[in-house]
Amino acid sequence: MSNEEDALLTALPICVFNPGPLTGAGNITWLLPGSIPTLIDAGTGDPRHLKALDEALGGARLAQVLVTHNHSDHASGVFALQEHISGVRFSKLAWLDRDSRYPVSWDPLVHEQFINTGDGILQVIHTPGHAPDHVCFWHAETRTLFGGDLAIQGTTVVIPASTGGDLGAYLTSLERVLTLRPARILPAHGPVITNPEELLRGYIRHRLEREQQILDALRTGASTVEEIVTCIYINLQESLRTMAAESVLAHLRKLEQGQQLIHNGEHWSFGGDSQ
Ligand SMILES: [Zn+2]
Repeated sequence: MSNEEDALLTALPICVFNPGPLTGAGNITWLLPGSIPTLIDAGTGDPRHLKALDEALGGARLAQVLVTHNHSDHASGVFALQEHISGVRFSKLAWLDRDSRYPVSWDPLVHEQFINTGDGILQVIHTPGHAPDHVCFWHAETRTLFGGDLAIQGTTVVIPASTGGDLGAYLTSLERVLTLRPARILPAHGPVITNPEELLRGYIRHRLEREQQILDALRTGASTVEEIVTCIYINLQESLRTMAAESVLAHLRKLEQGQQLIHNGEHWSFGGDSQ
């Protein structure tokens, strides 16, 4: 950021200490230490996260936690935070099927709502796709987006079709964020994204290419998720097979929503003569 933008927004990365196959080096939560100290994402409750948070707060009391979505690496730390900091408030966009997993008192967020962080205003941007309740937080003055799991530098984002993921919604969310023309994205995984437009347009291109591969696989006789995975992922490590299957299913469902495909049980095919 430039010095001028630094003066408009202070955001401190606080590590969650949960490295793993699905989280990479581990999640990052973002602290806006202003006059209404605000944490974006709750982490998982690791004592090292709480200690790092205390140090960054420097004696101030955390006022609110804004959760980007109800995946455990972002939300399960609410219990530890509630124990650790009296009176802290929690907010997220509702996901009725899931929010009972973390039964703190949630203040419901809505799309385009403004949130006062004391030293700046954030706007809620609903960005479903990776999860139905996924939101980003937009700081307009510095064109900074707190991105949650919308984008990760150097890799693509999982769309878990069996557990609320929706590829069509994800692509719409990427377009929605592109219209904001963000200068940077502060993500929940990986380094700060300084080329948002290039990365997000690359994601859209990648998904369209994958869609073509899936349509080609169907034309050559594959009809189940397993068959399509075998067809398009060459030399796939066994440990990545489940994720690949989720991705293929996400594509098939998008094509079904667009009325390009139908399915009968596990078997997918072109509807009518639309191939
Ligand atoms: Zn997630």
